[in-house]
Amino acid sequence: MGPLKAVDDRSSLALVPTSPRYGLGLCNSKRIDPRRHCPMKSSSQNRRSRARTMERKAMSLLRNSKSLGHLRQAHALVLKTRLDADNYVVAKLLRTLLAHSSAPGDLLPYARSIFDSVSSPDAFIFNTMMRANLISQRPQETLSLFLRMRRQDGVFCDSFSLSLVVQACGRLMDGDNGRTVHAQGMKIGFESDLFVQTALIEMYARLGSVEISKRILDDLKEPDLVSYNALLAEYVRIGEIQLARDLFDKMLERDLVSWNTMIHGHATLGDVVEARKLFDNARQRDVVSWSSMIGAYARTRQSNEALKLFHEMQLANVVPDNVTMVSVLAACGDIGALGMGKMIHEYIQRTRIEVDMKLGTSLVDMYAKCGDIDSSLSVFNRMDRRDVLTWSSAIMGLANHGSGQAALEFFSKMIAEGIKPNDIAFVGVLSACSHMGLVDEGWTYFTCMSDGYGITPKIEHFGCMVDMFARAGRLQEARELIRRMPFAPDAVVWRALLGGCRVYKDTDLAEEARVNLLDLEPHADGNYVLLSNIYTQKKKWDKVIHVRKMMRNVNIEKAPGSSSIEVDNAVYEFVAGDKSHPRTEEIYQMLSEIFKKLMLAGYKPLTSLVSQDLDERQKEIALAHHSEKLAIAFGLLSTTPRTPLRIVKNLRICDDCHLVIKLISKIYNREIIVRDRNRFHHFLEGSCTCREYW
Ligand code: ZN
Ligand code: ZN
Repeated sequence: MGPLKAVDDRSSLALVPTSPRYGLGLCNSKRIDPRRHCPMKSSSQNRRSRARTMERKAMSLLRNSKSLGHLRQAHALVLKTRLDADNYVVAKLLRTLLAHSSAPGDLLPYARSIFDSVSSPDAFIFNTMMRANLISQRPQETLSLFLRMRRQDGVFCDSFSLSLVVQACGRLMDGDNGRTVHAQGMKIGFESDLFVQTALIEMYARLGSVEISKRILDDLKEPDLVSYNALLAEYVRIGEIQLARDLFDKMLERDLVSWNTMIHGHATLGDVVEARKLFDNARQRDVVSWSSMIGAYARTRQSNEALKLFHEMQLANVVPDNVTMVSVLAACGDIGALGMGKMIHEYIQRTRIEVDMKLGTSLVDMYAKCGDIDSSLSVFNRMDRRDVLTWSSAIMGLANHGSGQAALEFFSKMIAEGIKPNDIAFVGVLSACSHMGLVDEGWTYFTCMSDGYGITPKIEHFGCMVDMFARAGRLQEARELIRRMPFAPDAVVWRALLGGCRVYKDTDLAEEARVNLLDLEPHADGNYVLLSNIYTQKKKWDKVIHVRKMMRNVNIEKAPGSSSIEVDNAVYEFVAGDKSHPRTEEIYQMLSEIFKKLMLAGYKPLTSLVSQDLDERQKEIALAHHSEKLAIAFGLLSTTPRTPLRIVKNLRICDDCHLVIKLISKIYNREIIVRDRNRFHHFLEGSCTCREYW
């Protein structure tokens, strides 16, 4: 094992095992109060007395400083009174300063300038700086500070310094330095120091040697919970959940950290059921436990569960933090719960939770997904820092709302601000081009994705391009692109081609698209009907019979279509023909009233969309009870006139519902916003922003 790199060979490790675990002995010199020795006051005494007053003022400012401004004042006083020669004061200043930074690393340069002005910093000051750099993800700095500390005469490392540098080596994956520190630390008596040993457990796990970590833990004479938790956390971090589980089950004692580590481990691996079991069994829970669990539900799109648990969290009087809010907002966006999302936003403002970039982006995304693009943009405009995720949320939002031009402008602004676009931003830009029929511009963006920005187009991007060509009637180019795609086309791609075929009446290509769709979605309802319609049109009777037979053989289980609507901050979900709502009777009464008015306006049900073998009247009833119609009937019943209705549909909205909602928006004078699987439809005064293309 070699000596530490980049170190003068003459400097030997000067380590003194001093501090008790976690409690760092301050190396402050005892200061003598001169007043006790000098009862008489002279002019020099007056000066001293003034100096003391200033000193007391500086220390009191330091103790009570609530802002960076206060701290700067305290720093100025420290310099004026030459207290900067006192290591105790400097350490206090540094610690207060670093505790003030909201984001790790924010105030590090300031701290560093104070540190650099100290002529002979002591171990405590070194440790403070090493720790600040480590938690600010600058392990390299921690290592260099350690090396400098060792070169300085009269300063001895304690177990805190050693554990910090060991952790830094782990994060840097610097096995050479790590092992050297380990070996030399052993030589001078740290082999049983729990603090250092726990750091070593983490370091070896990060270096890929969990066996060594485990051995260190096993060899500890009196391992404590912190050491167990360190190994547990490392197992979880490298995805060895079974090893973590074995260790967890073996532990005689567990604390909040142990439980949280296991909940987080299962949650991040997507095993929500197991995470929930642990969550329910945990004796104590804090904001971390709740946030992990809510985050697990949000990530797996069990959004109602996420919101339910958030409600329970509030009943349990646990104060949520930024991490909780990000997950809850994602859940709101997923199910389009605008009222709930707004409440969260108000809560954030009321409790003055700091809206950092991540939380701001979550708000932008939530409002866009809930159909409130104005609020989304107003949050966006108020943010002082934005990253590519913030921008792409806004771009996607604008594109989905049919504001293609604005989406493209945002994209240009983002580039102008020097932010490199990601693949989501390109999905936004391409769908904007698609909705506006800007095929050639779209193609330029598509090619510059890989040529200009080194982003490999994903299937979504090909889907956008196929959609763009198909909408513009350039069906052969669309087909050609599908052929050249580096992956197997999915249903979205074929459906996009089919959309064009429908508009431009290309039955051959439509047949091809349908056959492929049927392959990919054998259980999807409409595919059979429309394929059989194509064959009927072409008079291919044998094929018509074949499709009918297929329909009977494949047990057509539609993915159940469901629509949700939010009324008074509660989300109500409906499936087709739903009769589970307590106000079912009123809802169906409302529905028949609606249809009477629709018929008067000349509406004819598009019964050809119904695949089941039913008579005409039964088909009409089946259509009339589609989930979005039930949700709208309920919405009209339970809201005051002119309140916009917001519906979220899990599948694509059908042609009949689209037609009906257009008419309802006119007859009832309501703005109705429907988010289906593909985009937003804003219905107002009898028309829709999608211009019949979705
Ligand atoms: Zn429908
Ligand atoms: Zn529409």
